[in-house]
Amino acid sequence: MTLFGLENLPYGVFSTADGVRRIGVRLGGTVRDVSAIDDALRQPTLNALMALGRPRWTEIRSRITEVAPLSPAIPLAEVRLHLPFDVADYTDFYSSEHHAANVSRILRPQRPGLPAAWKHLPIGYHGRSGTVVVSGTPVERPHGQLAEGVFGPSARLDIEAEVGFVVGVPGRRIPTGRFAEHVFGVVLVNDWSARDIQAFEYQPLGPFLAKSFATSVSPWVVPLDAFATFPAVVQEPRPVSYLLPPGPALDVQLRVEWNGTEVSTPPYAQMYWTAAQQLAHLTVNGASVRTGDLYASGTVSGPSRGEAGSFLELTSNGTEPVKLADGSVRGFLLDGDTVTISATATGAAGTTIGLGSVTGTVCP
Ligand code: CA
Repeated sequence: MTLFGLENLPYGVFSTADGVRRIGVRLGGTVRDVSAIDDALRQPTLNALMALGRPRWTEIRSRITEVAPLSPAIPLAEVRLHLPFDVADYTDFYSSEHHAANVSRILRPQRPGLPAAWKHLPIGYHGRSGTVVVSGTPVERPHGQLAEGVFGPSARLDIEAEVGFVVGVPGRRIPTGRFAEHVFGVVLVNDWSARDIQAFEYQPLGPFLAKSFATSVSPWVVPLDAFATFPAVVQEPRPVSYLLPPGPALDVQLRVEWNGTEVSTPPYAQMYWTAAQQLAHLTVNGASVRTGDLYASGTVSGPSRGEAGSFLELTSNGTEPVKLADGSVRGFLLDGDTVTISATATGAAGTTIGLGSVTGTVCP
């Protein structure tokens, strides 16, 4: 059984020896060039396709389902995968109740608890789209102010395992019920985070340089149509009207590997706020989204340590290091460390589909 059968067909941008970027879909362990199918696919990025809107997405996907199995199979090992879309604006949310509660307990033990607004709206911040990079891009350890008068390389470099949503059709004040008209597909996101820089800088405006140095995304954009949808978690207190109905939940199961050792399995299905509510909130004040906007779920964490989406939680801020398969121990990332976040999901046909992976190696 493949995680990349005809019911999945994620889109990516690849090149072979000639270096020309083309749009392809993944089928099993191969890439199929689909650029001849439509003008919107004869492009170096997915943006033109993403701007077409759902009726055309459905039509093109249906043609690809017929054509892709017949087109030449290019082994994944023979292609280079590129950033699949030009990233317009980038927003990051904070929508896992388990993550928010864990962070509060670890960093503010004297006054734990969720921020006052947390259950009333999906908290987020605007990030930096220019430093969104494709999986495989090395991540340079950031420098910054780590404490008063202390400048240097971060000693508490961390990850955040997240699910990202890619906007196709522009809009503003997008009701939760119109989520699927605007969102094209789903990627995996690693929101690399320097905890020491973050702790010193974050008040009162939130993260700034602690996160803007790099955000990695997976090379395959899985179309929204490929996912099965489920009822969202019960929200109490009841959200205000523009956040209702909550929209669908997706059953995405993440897996985090640290230098090849699986260290956690964060469950996206347990997120408190849905992607539809996040988009509704992001645009409710009149702010617009445009083709290529990326918004990420926020760190996905479950209730147990083995489901933590960050190493801050996994190692209790470095105080309880994890042991890797080679016998070494880690609290935060060392130079040369590689983190790979992969995921599978329940697909629309009831089978399991793959989202691929997002990987990155830390360099000095
Ligand atoms: Ca984040």
